[in-house]
Amino acid sequence: MRFLADTMLGKLAKWLRILGYDVLYYRDLGDEELLDLARAEGRILLTRDEELRRRCRGILISSDDWREQLRELAEAVPLDSSGLFTRCLECNAALERVSRAEVEDGVSPFILATQEEFGRCPECGRVYWKGSHFAQALAEIERISSKRGE
Ligand SMILES: [Zn+2]
Repeated sequence: MRFLADTMLGKLAKWLRILGYDVLYYRDLGDEELLDLARAEGRILLTRDEELRRRCRGILISSDDWREQLRELAEAVPLDSSGLFTRCLECNAALERVSRAEVEDGVSPFILATQEEFGRCPECGRVYWKGSHFAQALAEIERISSKRGE
């Protein structure tokens, strides 16, 4: 399941990347470009725009709040946390697993001492670990799934 987020949904795109989903997001794409890209790459368009949604059978997101947006999306497609922290939040590239020794120079001693797993983006070189975003995203997905079960 791959997504394309419209220009209004940058925050949602980021949180979906935290969950490991492949989400393209550009700040400056027009409607036609979005539709072309969604079709060309077989991506589900996430949009705030009802007309755009109709034109490509995308998913309409109406809330302003990323938690609500995630919930709206989870009502349309199944979301889970199995890919948590496998994707770069900036480039959307899949992270490579790296050892503690490999990231020694790039992260603080505290992080080195308290984290066990690290991932690095092959494109921009950013190093990731399971920090607060990880816990927040996980909590949100759990909240959404428990609500679904009610
Ligand atoms: Zn990156």
